[in-house]
Amino acid sequence: MHQMTLAEIARGLADKKFSSEELTKVLLARITQLDPQLNSFISLTEDLAIEQAKAADARRANGDSGALLGAPIAHKDLFCTQGIRTSCGSKMLDNFKAPYDATVVAKLAAAGAVTLGKTNMDEFAMGSANESSWYGAVKNPWNLEHVPGGSSGGSAAAVAARLLPAATATDTGGSIRQPAAFTNLTGLKPTYGRVSRWGMIAYASSLDQGGPLARTAEDCAILLQGMAGFDPNDSTSIDEPVPDYSASLGDSLQGLRIGVPKEYFSAGLDPRIAELIQNSIQQLQKLGAVIKEISLPNMQHAIPAYYVIAPAEASSNLSRFDGVRFGHRCENPENLIDLYKRSRGEGFGAEVQRRIMVGAYALSAGYYDAYYLKAQKIRRLVKNDFMAAFNEVDIILGPTTPNPAWKLGAKNSDPVAAYLEDVYTITANLAGLPGLSMPAGFVDGLPVGVQLLAPYFQEGRLLNVAHQYQLNTDWHTRTPTGF
Ligand code: GLN
Repeated sequence: MHQMTLAEIARGLADKKFSSEELTKVLLARITQLDPQLNSFISLTEDLAIEQAKAADARRANGDSGALLGAPIAHKDLFCTQGIRTSCGSKMLDNFKAPYDATVVAKLAAAGAVTLGKTNMDEFAMGSANESSWYGAVKNPWNLEHVPGGSSGGSAAAVAARLLPAATATDTGGSIRQPAAFTNLTGLKPTYGRVSRWGMIAYASSLDQGGPLARTAEDCAILLQGMAGFDPNDSTSIDEPVPDYSASLGDSLQGLRIGVPKEYFSAGLDPRIAELIQNSIQQLQKLGAVIKEISLPNMQHAIPAYYVIAPAEASSNLSRFDGVRFGHRCENPENLIDLYKRSRGEGFGAEVQRRIMVGAYALSAGYYDAYYLKAQKIRRLVKNDFMAAFNEVDIILGPTTPNPAWKLGAKNSDPVAAYLEDVYTITANLAGLPGLSMPAGFVDGLPVGVQLLAPYFQEGRLLNVAHQYQLNTDWHTRTPTGF
């Protein structure tokens, strides 16, 4: 039962082959049995899950239907869930029970999805390895000595290990696509503004975007359908109609123009990954796509710009966690300054503190023009590169990451080494574009992802290309041994 995709579950439930309650119980038992190896959950919500599953079964018995009705999922632990701990992977929020549901949580619950729990993540979504969580590192089911990627590592490891079919995640600089690549999943970061950020604890507000992590493009279409849409509570949400993402999955790729940036194949890319990317290009050519070399000349500036803008926004967003308004409060403070210092010093981990310091510095009076403003100018150049490229091509294709998943601890002593691994993903966030990562093969038994980028609001095109690719390849069907 645990091998089923969301699409298969939807068919099984519609055909009355099993009930949502039966399936939910099977998956909850599987999580209890196997998750100790992975640490992919921070909280399990068994009682809520059973209650939601029974309600979904009752709705179906009354003639209700829908692809998400009775479908088991989990939420990254930065989506607020009413009455349930919403920790953001931090000691700071270890005892925070959100007073309301995030829009994404509410929408999926209304569609009948069943919440099995809240998944582990890098603290405040800062990281690429899921090692900065206060609840401990998450392990990669493909090799327990390796990281699953981050910051949505819990959602990725759980779905890859078949503990559940799909989960929500967020992507500020790659945190949906990179863990998808590291664990052999399909993950989609939507256009900025497509999915509501209301109730999604902010890391870098101008970059953050929620999206689906699943095994197939078909399942990402189902989950995205339930997440996307205008939300008056989010001032950056965009009032555009949501297309039927499943309807365009079958479109032909004949004549599709795929751009491959020459900058992608530079020295930093593992040559074994380069070869797998070439294979996926050939596969798409067989399906009718036309390949064109393009250039993204400002790509080399994207990492430094991102690692100024994201910490700057984070330093501002995280100022509310002061032990008074929100978050952990220290014992017996001597005075107000002592309260702030010790509450924040105890509540935040090392990586979060580093970024708050970098961000506060970049925004300070004397340095604003030199760092923050300059980074914003680079951001515009990165966007302009994409706009020029999309005049010539329909999709941009390349690797999701320069290397496969590294060993736990391998990059802990050098944060910049980890930042460099984001080179292919962060440009989409800087420009606000949608991006998808899908399985493209293996290197030393570890999964490799190919990334597709599209113009604004062309999520349907990304899902269509990925689905056609998956109809003709079987990388996405491989299961990690032991799971
Ligand atoms: N690795 C990037 C960072 O640490 C991206 C994280 C994310 O997308 N949440 O900022």
